[in-house]
Amino acid sequence: MGKIIMLICLLFMVPTDMEVAEIEKMPEVNFYGIDYQFIEASADEAISKDTVLNEVYWLQESLPILQRVNYSIHIVNEKCIRDSTTTILGLSDLDNMEIYMFATPDDMIDNKCANYIKMVATEHTAAHEIGHLLRHDILSDEALLNYYKMRGGGIEGLDSLTEPDEVFAEDFAYLFGSPNAFPVNFGNILFEAPGEKEKEWIANNLTLGFYEKYPLEQMREAMGLP
Ligand SMILES: [Zn+2]
Repeated sequence: MGKIIMLICLLFMVPTDMEVAEIEKMPEVNFYGIDYQFIEASADEAISKDTVLNEVYWLQESLPILQRVNYSIHIVNEKCIRDSTTTILGLSDLDNMEIYMFATPDDMIDNKCANYIKMVATEHTAAHEIGHLLRHDILSDEALLNYYKMRGGGIEGLDSLTEPDEVFAEDFAYLFGSPNAFPVNFGNILFEAPGEKEKEWIANNLTLGFYEKYPLEQMREAMGLP
């Protein structure tokens, strides 16, 4: 009996919701030693929290276990630049399950569809970064390499998992992210766009892998707990 009560308390105590919050400045985070610059953004360069939330809700519908994953998205009111030239829209701190999303520089989007393009880019960035977190949290390196092989990637001579990880995150965003009237093209020119086979593989492996890693979550689900 004691055990059952303890288990029920545990089930109620473990918070499993995600959080989206706006912050003014990027905190000190070490992104694998890569140097990023953060620059103050103007009000119209800021991205919309509602757009990010809508994308999260969309992804939770297309992949229900996402509702049970613990992670945070920080919307930083700064632009992020790498090597003085490359604009970065999102970064993930994988070990802490934190995503940082940045303002979109005005000069990057300079036409009358600006707001629409910006919304699509924000949605795509959120989905891509969530793809990175899910792969890091749930899939083994071996599973990732199997996926990469299924996509036609060669693993001979690969010296890191960066490319398989990028293919996975981009496929995830493409397959599970919200569709748009003006879609983002599949972002990796070396690979064909993924289809049903890839979608099924990702949904199955993430769902089974998640419940294997977090068996308590499966119990909560069975009990109808959030
Ligand atoms: Zn990426």
